[in-house]
Amino acid sequence: MKIGPVTARNRFFQVPHCTGMGSNWPMSHAEMRGQKAEGGWAVVCTEETMIHPTTDALPGASMRLWDDDDIPVFAAAADRVHEHGGLFGIELVHGGLSRANRTSRMAPLAPSASPNKYPMRPQARAMDLHDIAELRRWHRDAALRAKRAGADLVYVYAAHNIALPMHFLLPRYNRRNDTYGGRLENRVRLIRELIEDTKEAVGDTVAVALRFAVDERMGEAGLEWQKEGREVVEMLAELPDLWDVNVSGWEHDSKTSRFAQEGYQEDAVSFVKKLTSKPVVIVGRYTSPDAMVRVIRSGIADFIGAARPSIADPFLPRKIEEGRIEDIRECIGCNICISGNNSFVPMRCTQNPTMGEEWRRGWHPENLPVKGSDDRVLVIGAGPAGLEAARALGERGYAVTLAERASQPGGRVTREAALPGLAAWARVRDWRLTQIARMAHVEMYLESNMGKDEILRFGAPHVVFATGATWRRDGVGHANHKTIPGAGRSHVFGPEDVMAGRIDKGPVLIFDDDHGYMAGVLAEKLVANGMEVMLVTPAAMVSEFTVLTLEQGFVQKRLLELGVTIRQQVNLAAIEAGHAELACVYTGRREMVAATSIVLVTARVPNEQVYQALVRRPDLMEAAGLRSIALIGDCLSPQTIAAAVYDGHSYARDLDAPESVNPDVPYRREHMALS
Ligand code: ADP
Ligand code: SF4
Repeated sequence: MKIGPVTARNRFFQVPHCTGMGSNWPMSHAEMRGQKAEGGWAVVCTEETMIHPTTDALPGASMRLWDDDDIPVFAAAADRVHEHGGLFGIELVHGGLSRANRTSRMAPLAPSASPNKYPMRPQARAMDLHDIAELRRWHRDAALRAKRAGADLVYVYAAHNIALPMHFLLPRYNRRNDTYGGRLENRVRLIRELIEDTKEAVGDTVAVALRFAVDERMGEAGLEWQKEGREVVEMLAELPDLWDVNVSGWEHDSKTSRFAQEGYQEDAVSFVKKLTSKPVVIVGRYTSPDAMVRVIRSGIADFIGAARPSIADPFLPRKIEEGRIEDIRECIGCNICISGNNSFVPMRCTQNPTMGEEWRRGWHPENLPVKGSDDRVLVIGAGPAGLEAARALGERGYAVTLAERASQPGGRVTREAALPGLAAWARVRDWRLTQIARMAHVEMYLESNMGKDEILRFGAPHVVFATGATWRRDGVGHANHKTIPGAGRSHVFGPEDVMAGRIDKGPVLIFDDDHGYMAGVLAEKLVANGMEVMLVTPAAMVSEFTVLTLEQGFVQKRLLELGVTIRQQVNLAAIEAGHAELACVYTGRREMVAATSIVLVTARVPNEQVYQALVRRPDLMEAAGLRSIALIGDCLSPQTIAAAVYDGHSYARDLDAPESVNPDVPYRREHMALS
């Protein structure tokens, strides 16, 4: 596929995506991007790359191309991408009023004076014509640096409402009355000029892409694809070498599987290709080859764009090329990757435990070292941690016995995937089961409860516990450090009871002191079962931690629409028959509410009793030939599914890791240089 002056080897396009690494972890970033090219992605792009100190995203981990000293960070990634035959793209960004410039301390810039959300520099300056000329110069200089770093493609970025060119386009930010304000031609002028400048500066050898969000999913309050979104595409149709189109804001662009299905942007972006002869790339969490073929054949796009599917499986294109469809590790749409970025740390992935560990631990998503011995490994528990440990050990050639107490594998993933909106999470289990089924040396036994005696009798030299965790029933959690009075009553339940359908009497009070997704999905399930539900939380919002996965607004909206009564900043003080006593977190003021059933969603207790029983008896272990035992996943510390998978993978890699690995700091670190 031709993109201006460059040619992509196939139609798989890794669009710009955040990583939480940015310029802060340059080698981690370079190695990770290189692996994507190795996996067959024709185009591999950076994340947001800030062009000047007036757009300073720190402490967020975006990239910086402020001066020539930044070039090596990009060159390192470009070299690795080129080594594997990919094209390297750099997304040049000025964030305008979205950036508070917390380290550069320079005035944020905007088309018109506007507040931003950061208290340290809470207002952006209205740019005058000199500022606009300067901005164009910075952008041109950054494009030239990008070219010197080895970019084959550079972006002009007007997607999401966190980009200055988008701020100029949107009347709610642009109240100017000069040639950059007022009618659409004026508001789009900056985007046009940036594309023209970039083409003039580097367009002879470097393709110039426009990333443009055609719709803000706000109805008439924002940009709509049927109106100005479409007009902008008409006006600029042939100007960029490539159109990368999506929807805004980020929570709509990177929607989770709980709230959107594969291809969820097609309604808004499909029109673009009809208006331009230039190649078009779209995204929409495409993981199934059938959907990808449909997108190309139906003439919606020329490239399959991917961020998350390329994170979950950097080798997705290669697997499709080789016809290994069932080997694709499909993204489950959980946005744990984004939660890493939003916590200012390198991202992680539920499906792909090697993500983020390419450089610092030398992990490759497809290659594991060959086993170091002929020892058998007994893995206890077939949840995400145990399944990944068994798969990765099997991949290494180890003989593995996987023992699971339940009649179904999958542990919490099997239970949770049955909850409203979480069906795609079953892929964590299913991909691993498919892989394991092909390995004759990995055996799985269901309905096999392993106690101390069974383990000793089994006689494997290595035993790893992946026995999970159990939700507490005493109410202890973030807000309550002691048992909630009345928690032992018979009408008090835990999440497992809701999942097993054991609650049949409402009204139900759900007490959420866990703050993840669980209480919200349980509320949905109970409403679907015809129950009246009140959700009580000491936090300021429902499912507070889902802010990090971009879901919180969607969760709260859904629960309100379902008629769930929401009580925020209220603690559960005591439980009585038919009633609960609530307490305001500020004043302590008490009130009684009616509740026939109460569900406590607070914290989990690791299932490590059998492990502890063994650890207490080294004599018995020695007699049975048991040389190592370990805990992984939720039985080590209750955590995300991503962390459990990571533990399983890490265990499998480290079982016979060489002595030279520092057990205290088991990875390479990126050190700041002293200048
Ligand atoms: P994780 O997220 O750490 O993988 P899960 O709770 O999803 O944890 O899975 C733990 C699995 O271990 C469950 O399927 C559970 O039935 C199983 N399990 C727990 N204790 C035992 C045991 N003693 N013997 C066999 N299986 C067990
Ligand atoms: Fe997909 Fe979840 Fe992995 Fe992100 S963390 S790439 S959403 S599976």
